[in-house]
Amino acid sequence: MSEEVETFVFQAEIAQLMSLIINTFYSNKEIFLRELISNSSDALDKIRYESLTDPSKMDSGKELSIRIVPNKNDRSLTVYDTGVGMTKADLINNLGTIAKSGTKSFMEALNAGADISMIGQFGVGFYSTYLVADKVTVISRHNDDEQYIWESSAGGSFTIKLDNSEPLGRGTKVVLYLKEDQTEYLEERRIKEVVKKHSQFIGYPINLLVEKEREKEIDDDENEEKEEEKTGEDDKPKIEDIGEDDDFDKKKKKTVKEKYTEDEELNKTKPLWTRNPDDISHVEYGEFYRSLTNDWEDHLACKHFSVEGQLEFRAMLYIPRRAPFDLFENKKQKNKIKLYVRRVFIMDNCEELIPDYLNFINGVVDSEDLPLNISREMLQQNKILKVIRKNLVKKVMELIEELCDDKDNYKKFYENFSKNLKLGIHEDSTNRKKIAEFLRYYTSSSGEDMTSLKEYVSRMKEGQKHIYYVTGESKDQVANSTFVEKALKRNLEVIYMIDPIDEYCVQQLKEYDGKTLVSVSKEGLELPEDEDEKKKFEEKKVKFEGLCKLMKDILDKKVEKVVLSSRLVTSPCCIVTSQYGWSANMERIMKAQALRDTSTMGYMAAKKHFEINPDHCIIDNLRIKSDENRSDKSVKDLVMLLFETSLLTSGFNLEEPTVHASRIYRMIKMGLGIDEDTGDDTEEMPKLEDLPPLEGEEEDTSRMEEVD
Ligand code: ADP
Ligand code: MG
Repeated sequence: MSEEVETFVFQAEIAQLMSLIINTFYSNKEIFLRELISNSSDALDKIRYESLTDPSKMDSGKELSIRIVPNKNDRSLTVYDTGVGMTKADLINNLGTIAKSGTKSFMEALNAGADISMIGQFGVGFYSTYLVADKVTVISRHNDDEQYIWESSAGGSFTIKLDNSEPLGRGTKVVLYLKEDQTEYLEERRIKEVVKKHSQFIGYPINLLVEKEREKEIDDDENEEKEEEKTGEDDKPKIEDIGEDDDFDKKKKKTVKEKYTEDEELNKTKPLWTRNPDDISHVEYGEFYRSLTNDWEDHLACKHFSVEGQLEFRAMLYIPRRAPFDLFENKKQKNKIKLYVRRVFIMDNCEELIPDYLNFINGVVDSEDLPLNISREMLQQNKILKVIRKNLVKKVMELIEELCDDKDNYKKFYENFSKNLKLGIHEDSTNRKKIAEFLRYYTSSSGEDMTSLKEYVSRMKEGQKHIYYVTGESKDQVANSTFVEKALKRNLEVIYMIDPIDEYCVQQLKEYDGKTLVSVSKEGLELPEDEDEKKKFEEKKVKFEGLCKLMKDILDKKVEKVVLSSRLVTSPCCIVTSQYGWSANMERIMKAQALRDTSTMGYMAAKKHFEINPDHCIIDNLRIKSDENRSDKSVKDLVMLLFETSLLTSGFNLEEPTVHASRIYRMIKMGLGIDEDTGDDTEEMPKLEDLPPLEGEEEDTSRMEEVD
């Protein structure tokens, strides 16, 4: 094999990130060690997991561990692990050429004032080595490949070459050539301090090569030869055994100081979850959380518990303070719960442990009952796991419930994870009722704070049977919508559902505390009213029947029907969606979704009802005008205008705003007394009949069937 050196260019954003790391003034550099240890720990997890199904993968007989070796002679610090290792392709891809979404997000976060120590959460922790080193070498050997060396002194490129020097066996060795002013990381005391602070809960032994001194009795005459010199990273004492026993007494003895090196394990603490909760301080919980998650700040809430009986396990569950930047990114790992079996780490990201909607929960689960060699395939069927999962969900519910008592913290939680709760409503029918208690909304009377459904119900008016809500894009938009008008006039509180996911959520959350949730923008809304009102309304229905029919003829397929409304107060008309059709908000969301099914689109979108307000002067005048002459052209124009305007105020989009605009111009002309057939620019104004079809209508359906 040739010793050829190949040079690669870092992916542009990674190069940018590296120069940022090198050039930014930043004092908390120690986190680089946490990142290296965390990568080693991940690599060890991987090989352990692979060996569950193929034990030969681990047959080199090496202990799974991490070793730190400082070398003052060449100012290098080495972190060595017996993990899965990297093939040549892995080295090229993982350390420099494949773009990661976290790179950009991290740089944006830094610009927005984030701290460099957050780097681990963005999946680019390796590059933090350049905080302290000006050159980094990664020597790695994967079971499936030869041993390769990756090397870079930053500057936009790295090299890869085959490594024929001392073979590592499986694993990875990262050598940092420290900058002149970073020699503190060669000091035993400093390394111990950093490991204790950031990595004490790592599940594999972290050994540090330390230098020690001991007294040694030696023969006087051998004395001269035995001046010790320090010898790098050997853990055997550097002195030979002293001569044969029989001459021993005859010789004079002398003691000398002898230097030697040996490995010292730095993380002997028992796994935190096995300890009694009463003996664990808040600080320890925080440290454990941070080492588990690479988070830079403490958790928001934590639950540590054990389950005994037919089945035994211990668990620690954490709610973080913030949602990670990629919470809903599809390819991201499913959850952040580590599965252990009798203290041995089995895997992260065990999908069977917790439902998707709780993917923000971090933690560990340690089972006494599962077999050690359990594989992912076996997990899917496993009954023990089903029971564990049920218990975890129950505990998370308790944890959130406890959090509710603390208003400020709950607010923080809700800002970050309300989407998860709403997904939960959608997916988890067993806990739906429970989760409904955790929902918070702005309402027409909640002001700046959000309100729970429970509070809403406690404020309900006498005789109010339903919980009213409206969906839309923003608080302001829904607060001023025509739908809310009538309800407010009757002093009914309306819940504002302004998160896109609310649409999905209410499809499942049909009731709360025995009260149905009713959308004020859907057909058939019945607000409480008295008998007298009802009678009057019936009379109006008869009076406006003709107009309704005419309007339906004009609007044709654009609407399903035209009806008289009892919900409007100050607006002349509005568009509502039928009970099973999409609301305007849903239509907006669906249109925005790339993978929408266009056939459903047409069907669902068509279910619009046009409601008119009989008490409004525009509508009443229109009725009079149309009774006089049913084929009056201006009536048609006015009806179209009213409809298009309602589309807008009800939250729908106009597909051809220019058509709407031309209609408005024509009305303005009329208002100014300009004759339709005179004036220079009239030809540019398309006549109503020539206008292209509107909103969801097909070309061939005649949009203006003459009604005369
Ligand atoms: P992350 O650990 O979040 O994936 P890093 O920048 O820390 O991001 O590491 C990048 C990748 O490099 C890792 O995902 C892993 O594939 C690889 N890697 C880093 N260190 C090691 C190691 N010690 N052993 C094996 N692979 C490693
Ligand atoms: Mg990492």
